[in-house]
Amino acid sequence: MHIGIAGGGLLGRLLAWQLLIAGHQVTVVDRDTPENSAGACRVAAAMLAPWSEVLKAETVVFEQGLNGIAQWQQWLAQLQQETGEQVFCSDAGSVLVAHRQDRAELPRLRRDWQHCLGDRAAAVQVLDGAALAALEPELARQFSDALYLPDEACLDNVHLLAVLATALEKRGGRWYVGNIEQAGPQCMQVSGERHVFDHVLDVRGFGAHEAIADLRGVRGEVLWVHAPEVQLRRPVRLVHPRYQLYIAPRPDHRYVIGATEIESEQETPVTVRSSLELLSALYAVHRGFAEATIEHAFARCRPAYPDNLPRIDAYPGYWQVNGLYRHGYLLAPSLVSQVMRLLQNKEEGPWPVRQHLAESVA
Ligand SMILES: Cc1cc2nc3c(=O)[nH]c(=O)nc-3n(C[C@H](O)[C@H](O)[C@H](O)COP(=O)(O)OP(=O)(O)OC[C@H]3O[C@@H](n4cnc5c(N)ncnc54)[C@H](O)[C@@H]3O)c2cc1C
Repeated sequence: MHIGIAGGGLLGRLLAWQLLIAGHQVTVVDRDTPENSAGACRVAAAMLAPWSEVLKAETVVFEQGLNGIAQWQQWLAQLQQETGEQVFCSDAGSVLVAHRQDRAELPRLRRDWQHCLGDRAAAVQVLDGAALAALEPELARQFSDALYLPDEACLDNVHLLAVLATALEKRGGRWYVGNIEQAGPQCMQVSGERHVFDHVLDVRGFGAHEAIADLRGVRGEVLWVHAPEVQLRRPVRLVHPRYQLYIAPRPDHRYVIGATEIESEQETPVTVRSSLELLSALYAVHRGFAEATIEHAFARCRPAYPDNLPRIDAYPGYWQVNGLYRHGYLLAPSLVSQVMRLLQNKEEGPWPVRQHLAESVA
């Protein structure tokens, strides 16, 4: 079958790769070249954080997220075989710290995990100063205790997206640059031209919001910094009653930092207020960030449905797969696997599937 993929972001690249492996002919259509993706996938912190996320999400996000981390390990090994490129993945857990005045937040979080996950919450470890110094020595200068979530991870998403593009090219996938004006059963309208396929998978993320009535954007802002004086191995979260900073490590002393989640569909540049808040919080975690350079500031919308869970809408010859919200990297493995099964008429999977008639495409 010739499958057209509308959107070459995270889902688009993963689905294209899996479909090529399954023997299909694949054409990815995106407004950007493979090197210059501007989707949410590129700016994301790419933390694989089922423990942190379950406190604000359904338990299915936790279960599928844990499976997702295992699946990423396999996929990264396979991508390395296919391309010779090793994508950085920090799989040594993540650390949560709180400033002295907010330290009561840490035991409160442990109680929240017990409430959500019962006995499984015993996996959350309490670190005293010595244990923190052994795990993340530079954090122990500022904090006297912490929580440790051993089963969390973090990917270098920019490298991953590049490696997926290489894998697609090696397997004969086609990448077509153009603006998709409309996607529907077996066809796409791209920059004024009609392109016909056996199936179309619409994975445009927030870019599909005009075609999907209940899809909304949730704005996120991140700064990318280069901090030669900072050496953190794992994602770090600063726990605060109102403001939660995260620091996601990348190779070569680079860090993605973020915090904000705003119910807004604007993708305008990062504001001074957000930058000030992020940078002050960052400096308070580690003084070495004072000399860091800011390499990029990005704001993008996460694609979300009202329940903040992904969903598959199936029309004859047309599939909308969307709603990954703030869990794109965490949940993509299970969503991609479910789509692959559905294409083989196997119904089972954790995410809701809505069946529609072809005539009802918006
Ligand atoms: C600031 C921020 C931080 C995040 N951090 C994390 C995290 O730590 N962990 C995690 O798991 N998830 C995180 N996410 C969420 C994750 O990035 C998204 O859930 C994921 O990228 C969604 O994947 P997608 O393929 O559906 O959409 P996208 O990645 O946005 O890809 C959509 C693609 O479609 C293309 N497109 C759209 N419209 C058109 C059109 N009309 N014509 C042609 N092409 C089009 C775009 O160019 C893009 O390439 C974060 C997101 C943001 C914004």
